[in-house]
Amino acid sequence: MIDLHTHSTCSDGTDSPFALVKKALAAGVTTLGITDHDSTSGWNEAITAIQPQIQLVLGAEISCLTTDGISVHMLGLLFDGEHQEMQQMLEESRDTRIPRMRKMIELLRADGYEISIEDVNRAAPIGATLGRPHLADALVAKGIVATRDEAFLELLHNDSKYYVSHAAPTPTDAISVIRKAGGVAVIAHPFASRRGEILRAESFGDLLVAGLNGIEVHHRDQSADEQKVLTEIAKELNLAITGSSDYHGTGKLNSMAENTTHPAQWEMLESATNARRVVTA
Ligand code: AMP
Ligand code: ZN
Ligand code: FE
Ligand code: FE
Repeated sequence: MIDLHTHSTCSDGTDSPFALVKKALAAGVTTLGITDHDSTSGWNEAITAIQPQIQLVLGAEISCLTTDGISVHMLGLLFDGEHQEMQQMLEESRDTRIPRMRKMIELLRADGYEISIEDVNRAAPIGATLGRPHLADALVAKGIVATRDEAFLELLHNDSKYYVSHAAPTPTDAISVIRKAGGVAVIAHPFASRRGEILRAESFGDLLVAGLNGIEVHHRDQSADEQKVLTEIAKELNLAITGSSDYHGTGKLNSMAENTTHPAQWEMLESATNARRVVTA
């Protein structure tokens, strides 16, 4: 089983990279992608957990913003982790997430929500890419909301008055850096409409020109109809079709390997990299 998109405590998942690999093993995953938000800091620890039954696809989920302000997530897989431009891009995104968090807290406080940056820092593992899920956890700890999900529904969703964006590359810039670093680019849950405004179908042409390799079609945040349209787009543009869990530990309902990628589609992606970088035991 191939699951190419999961998160650890290096971003907003709740399993350490080591535990993540062990969970994947237990679930029968044979090829696991570790794709923390804007970070590669979990790679080394994940590598220490691999066994002969499981291979690792090192990657990251890059937060992007289109020029008209639509939030897009781009999975970069099998790129060179030492690539300077890539690390610079990820670092800039992580750094600007801190003032962005302060701004969101300011807006919440102005409306009477008693939350502070200290509360959020307590909720975030050291070194983790700081994100809204940590703010959600802090709101839960304070008794302001009951769950992460409720926090997003009521206060933190993309169209909320408390939402603030952080510096992020455009999707085409992210694709181009991923490809320059020798990896492959797969657009994550492009039609996840319940999260907010989504990309228009016409935009895929530009992404293809930038070097896009695949589309994450099978994902719980996309309806059967949305998955059907995406499958047609992928076939028309000769892009790989992936499916993945987007597992976040207990931080989300998604269970490991609830969606998977067909081996032939994975082969199509792996063969488009500039070097063999899958890590085996
Ligand atoms: P950020 O990167 O700070 O903008 O936060 C985005 C993260 O929030 C993504 O990883 C999503 O998986 C997560 N997220 C979005 N909606 C929810 C939700 N309803 N419950 C838990 N996590 C969510
Ligand atoms: Zn996440
Ligand atoms: Fe995502
Ligand atoms: Fe994700």
